[in-house]
Amino acid sequence: MVIVTKFGGTSLADAEQFDKVKNIITDNAERKVVVVSAPGKSKVKIDGLDLKITDALLKISKNEKVEEHARYVLGRFESIAKELQIENKEKQSILTGLKADLTHTNESFLASRGEHYNARLMYAYLQSQKISSKLILPEEQGWTLVDGKFGNRYSPKSMQKMKMISTDALCVIPGYYGIKKGKIATLGRGGSDITGGEIAAALRATLYENWTDQPGVKAADPRIIQNAPTIPELTYDEMRVLGVRGFGVLHFEAMLACEVHKIPILVGNTNDPHGVKTRIMEDRLPNEQVIGVSKLDNLAYVTIQKRMMDEETGFTEKALSVFSKAGIPTDLYSASVDELAIFMPEKEVKEKMPLDVLNRQLRESLDTENVYWNNDVAIVTIVGKGMKNSIGVIAKSATALANEGINIITTGNAIRGSGIYYGVRQAVANIAVETLYNAFIEKK
Ligand code: ASP
Repeated sequence: MVIVTKFGGTSLADAEQFDKVKNIITDNAERKVVVVSAPGKSKVKIDGLDLKITDALLKISKNEKVEEHARYVLGRFESIAKELQIENKEKQSILTGLKADLTHTNESFLASRGEHYNARLMYAYLQSQKISSKLILPEEQGWTLVDGKFGNRYSPKSMQKMKMISTDALCVIPGYYGIKKGKIATLGRGGSDITGGEIAAALRATLYENWTDQPGVKAADPRIIQNAPTIPELTYDEMRVLGVRGFGVLHFEAMLACEVHKIPILVGNTNDPHGVKTRIMEDRLPNEQVIGVSKLDNLAYVTIQKRMMDEETGFTEKALSVFSKAGIPTDLYSASVDELAIFMPEKEVKEKMPLDVLNRQLRESLDTENVYWNNDVAIVTIVGKGMKNSIGVIAKSATALANEGINIITTGNAIRGSGIYYGVRQAVANIAVETLYNAFIEKK
């Protein structure tokens, strides 16, 4: 029985947090693998700075106030090591190594140092507490990265190597980086989640724990619904729908790795280890219609109209290929007779191609002049596998929105049935979340 446990940056921001992590690890002997992030923001300001260590390291790599940021990184590690009372020789070795590494200029190498030295600190701390453990470093293990669809990912070879991790003692492992073409490379922001997920998958762990400063996944964005409860259980499908539409407690690639082997994921709060948590898993028995409400902000949509569009083969394909060639990811499609609407992030449209060029390409490739744009749209989604076999969820949600005077621009649902979405004006998106939350969750 192996539990892989990953701690995020806020869980390791200072000595007090390290101590909480140690208590969590030792609370269950099945916790055999500990993956660590770099320290996040802390209460300790240095030269007025209060940054995630990774952000400070990236600033160094971009040549921004190098001395100040290097002092900050060193100061943060020094303060944690001092408060943890790490043995002097070990402390010096960590700090001297870090100091030397901070003079490098390679972005990925620098970015990886937060995790690298945090793992070394954690290992030294566990040693000092007489907790038997070993340090496993990706560069020593030869965990290589390759190009993936969404940036770097672990190579099949490194996953084979991960299978060989022996859990005879507690393993401390830095997340977020590996080796690519002989050099250190990173997995992208939030990548330690992926390290944990891949190791959990490789070891066929019984559980993958992801500890953050949040008590799991909330039923709605707490900035909109202050007391939104934690969702106790979610399926991978539900998490995916909630996550794509606005929830960000877990990196999706970590979930994908676990999903393949049906490894459940537990998201908990390091500051309240015995408190509520969210368990994400293959299936669950729902006793409610809707479990959460999510929101994706700032979308634009283009409406394309053409007579007899429906009779043409490949019309949608041609439209989508204009966007894929421009590198603009599209989100939703809504089609009706002689009309196709495509939704995408406003920001992507602005950044990737001038609108007149995009319009010309659409008009030429689709042979129609009728191309119209709209901005300021949000997609609000009610999520829950219980809605699939439940009558009246669309009626109830649309009525609730109507009673609030909210116009629905578009709507749809996934055939597999975990979500129903409503496109609404950005200006009323938060009210739409509140309305749907009140209709299904608060007053259920
Ligand atoms: N430290 C990296 C970041 O801030 C990776 C991680 O925390 O997962 O994105």
